[in-house]
Amino acid sequence: MTKVTTAQLQQFDRAHHLHPFTDFKQYQKQGGRIVSRAEHIYIYDHDGQQILDGMSGLWCCNLGYSQQRIVEAVNSQLQQLPYYNNFFNCSNQPAAEMAKALVDISPDGFNHVFFTNSGSEANDTNIRLVHRYYDLLEQPQKKLIISRHNGYHGSTIAAASLGGMSFMHEQFRGIDYVHHIDQPHWYAEGGDSDRNEFGLQVARQLEKKIDELGEENVAAFIAEPIQGAGGVIVPPETYWPEIQRICDERDILLISDEVICGFGRTGAWFGCETFNFKPDLITFAKAVTNGYQPLGGVMVGDKVASVLLGGDGEFGHGLTYSGHPASCAAGIATLAIMKEQRIIERTASDIAPYLQQQLRQFEDHPCVGEVRGSGMVAALELVGDKHSRAKIADNSAAATFCRDQAIANGLMVRAVGDAMVTAPPMVCDRGEIDLLVDRLGRALDATA
Ligand code: PLP
Repeated sequence: MTKVTTAQLQQFDRAHHLHPFTDFKQYQKQGGRIVSRAEHIYIYDHDGQQILDGMSGLWCCNLGYSQQRIVEAVNSQLQQLPYYNNFFNCSNQPAAEMAKALVDISPDGFNHVFFTNSGSEANDTNIRLVHRYYDLLEQPQKKLIISRHNGYHGSTIAAASLGGMSFMHEQFRGIDYVHHIDQPHWYAEGGDSDRNEFGLQVARQLEKKIDELGEENVAAFIAEPIQGAGGVIVPPETYWPEIQRICDERDILLISDEVICGFGRTGAWFGCETFNFKPDLITFAKAVTNGYQPLGGVMVGDKVASVLLGGDGEFGHGLTYSGHPASCAAGIATLAIMKEQRIIERTASDIAPYLQQQLRQFEDHPCVGEVRGSGMVAALELVGDKHSRAKIADNSAAATFCRDQAIANGLMVRAVGDAMVTAPPMVCDRGEIDLLVDRLGRALDATA
């Protein structure tokens, strides 16, 4: 293969490639980093600079970049059966086996899966499933969905409508049957209140919203166990039990969006297990294939599945690549590695507590107001004044400056609002966590 220079690639890219979540005008001028290869927990740019990937790609390569077994599974599947659809009463071996493998690792009472290619499509699918469920129950007026401000559920029109990112809503017209309540972000919105009291109050907004909209009209509540893209918002302990109580008492389906929290990130297979609540539907994507192939879907709990399976007529929803054989082969290999190597148990008992403990040292750092996290995901909230929680002056630039400093020091982290976010691969060892913490510390020092 002819070696193309970095400058050439950057030029093609700037001239022709419209990137997701990117300021197009700025990108045309400044261009970006071309990532050319990866190994274990490191990515390498086209000029060979090594960067420790503190974001597991985009929260998806939980087992890092050197899982040869997944690569081989995809390879051999592409040779055997590169594609066939799952429509018209057809299936394929990896899709059937992956469905079984997912049921095996899901909480009790989850025995069915609908496959998509992404988390966004999975959340669109949730809406379709929920509407179909209530239609079959002869409650067709139950169509409204409640979600949260600053939640993230994807980028298609329906998923972005579920999401509560205000800057996204400003750019399109959302669907009108989605309503939002506040997020359980105690540090930003709790003021002087007790954390657990705040958790209860925010959860009870769901009850108020149901009353306002009419219980007979509300179909479901959707939320992430920990808000990832919103800045790793870990809810107070009181939050999820109260949400569960309300959904149970008011006959509202509960959807746990586990696109980031699933597959071990919070210390269990799913975030709902870490936070001890029982959803009716679970959205998954990303780490299900360790990010090596696109795959997402919805785990459907028995309460919903029994109605769907008993309904007459066709469910009019599906995607050409639902249950793609190569993606499912990647998923089967990923789950097998996680089980055989006891990745979740090992991470939860050692590396995750070590990461959280090491990051807590930044609580004393002059520009860090809060360190929060759970399992293998964490955020540091940057502040100008720890006491008043006032932002750093000209703060819009502080987090991106800090992120750029981290990258210059060989660490990929993400700037979300005023927070520095990290979600490193679960296959890190303690020495690699030390390296991550050291590089993050240098970036914080440069920002203070
Ligand atoms: N849901 C959550 C919680 C996410 O974090 C994301 C993506 O980051 C999505 C849904 C959308 O997933 P995808 O980008 O695969 O469409």
